[in-house]
Amino acid sequence: MTSGKQPGKQFLAACLLSFGLFSCHSRQPADLILYHGKVYTVDSVFSKVEAFAVKDGKILAAGSDEEIKGKYESAQMVDAGGKAVYPGFIDAHAHFVRYGESLYTAGLFGSDSFEEVVRRVKQFADAHPGQAWILGRGWDQNKFPGKSFPDNALLNQLFPNTPVVLGRVDGHAVIANAKALELAGLHPGQKIPGGEIETKNGRLTGILIDNAEHLVQSKIPELSPADEQERLDAAQQRCFAQGLTTVTDCGLDRIDIERVDSLQRAGKLKMRVYVMLSDSKANLDYYLPKGPYKTDLLYVKGVKAYADGALGSRGACLLQPYDDKAGWQGFLLSSPAHYDSLAKLLAGTDFQLCTHAIGDSGNRIILQVYNKYLSGKNDKRWRIEHAQVIAPADFTLFGKGSVIPSVQPTHATSDMYWAGERLGATRLKGAYAFKQLLQQNGWLPLGTDFPVEDISPFKTFLAAVFRVDAKGSPTGGFQMENALSREEAIRGMTIWAAKADCLEHEIGSLEAGKKADFIILDKDLMEVPWNEVLPTKVVATYSGGQKMHSL
Ligand SMILES: [Zn+2]
Repeated sequence: MTSGKQPGKQFLAACLLSFGLFSCHSRQPADLILYHGKVYTVDSVFSKVEAFAVKDGKILAAGSDEEIKGKYESAQMVDAGGKAVYPGFIDAHAHFVRYGESLYTAGLFGSDSFEEVVRRVKQFADAHPGQAWILGRGWDQNKFPGKSFPDNALLNQLFPNTPVVLGRVDGHAVIANAKALELAGLHPGQKIPGGEIETKNGRLTGILIDNAEHLVQSKIPELSPADEQERLDAAQQRCFAQGLTTVTDCGLDRIDIERVDSLQRAGKLKMRVYVMLSDSKANLDYYLPKGPYKTDLLYVKGVKAYADGALGSRGACLLQPYDDKAGWQGFLLSSPAHYDSLAKLLAGTDFQLCTHAIGDSGNRIILQVYNKYLSGKNDKRWRIEHAQVIAPADFTLFGKGSVIPSVQPTHATSDMYWAGERLGATRLKGAYAFKQLLQQNGWLPLGTDFPVEDISPFKTFLAAVFRVDAKGSPTGGFQMENALSREEAIRGMTIWAAKADCLEHEIGSLEAGKKADFIILDKDLMEVPWNEVLPTKVVATYSGGQKMHSL
């Protein structure tokens, strides 16, 4: 199937052959023909073709220009202009609905001090007067001078009467002002299992970690359906512009799922969305008896649990204490008995269990529970989200029970500046170990965790292959022994991500019978030097053979 420059004689013979074969038959109708492309099909042998034909939203056939144009005809001829064509990118771990909402809150990503955070919140509040609650997301104390958690004194001064809740970059901590804490009924010294309500000198600082966040978040009023639609539409437009045609939403409740479903049925939302249910009794009671829910665009098949928190907020559960906090090992967000009963429950269903695990202890506990119920190689596709810090002895537990490590390469290049302080040099070697994780099952899905990280799949590719961040740091790459090849990274962003979502028979490659989800890029990721990865532009994005974005 690999195309190349054919010598003149062969070319002539092929023309005569195709003329002879097809001239007496009418060509078959297609809805679209893409030709003159450098098409990476991402099939099992990573073959390249020049053209493919599309009918009813699916690929009819792929091959050389001569083959496809000889066999099919269409009113819609797309000249790829010799550019690289890939299957639409799939993000194997993201938060699509929350991302849409984040586009309508104060953006705090990259703030280099808490004063800067407050300045941005003030600017947002001035630009959006009359908000009942002021929300924001993206601060990271590791970027502040001194790297310690801020307190809410400045927010209390500026916003004495309006509740303010600002999420940390990883979503595992918030800072709330006094008004929000008052509405949630919190008091100094209050305790919560699997979380922390920070109290200093007898007063609340406003910092709420992991399970404590929900105490204020549950007081935030629900969005109206129109507001929600506007946000989802904005999220979708940004996805298509980045070449993403499918996203995996890691943790939604029924209300969000039904909203996505009704918008898709009304033709107002064209993204393909794979959904993991948030681990709540209400969700499980409703969906488990029915089995996985599937439409053309929506697939509800996962259940998202949380083993622990994040490394940045020292909520990740470690086997040994943190290097930068004596005696502290983080914590589990639920009891081991909960993970066991959830695994036992789901083992008898067609749902995938997908558990967030960051620390080496969190990962070990989940791997042991999974292996208890999976007993050997299997096709249940249970996943560990992040699989971030793994003890050397535990890597083989992924392969043992066919457990999928679902990783986000940009976490490595965001965290590398401080992960060594938390973990020390020895443990750091088992962190963000993507190549080693890939070797366990022979495949590895990639994602971003947006809006925790930037939405860009190009940043994923850069971080996976070159192990550098957007600034090109560090020179030579971070822990390069765990870099992926270009082909592995492309597979991780297409067919392997599809496989992690149990959708590899529908999407993830450009082969006959698959959905015609494809993108045209102005540069070829299989060839560009590292510094041209991020400037690569998505010339066009098609989903189901329909153009969703073009430059
Ligand atoms: Zn996530």
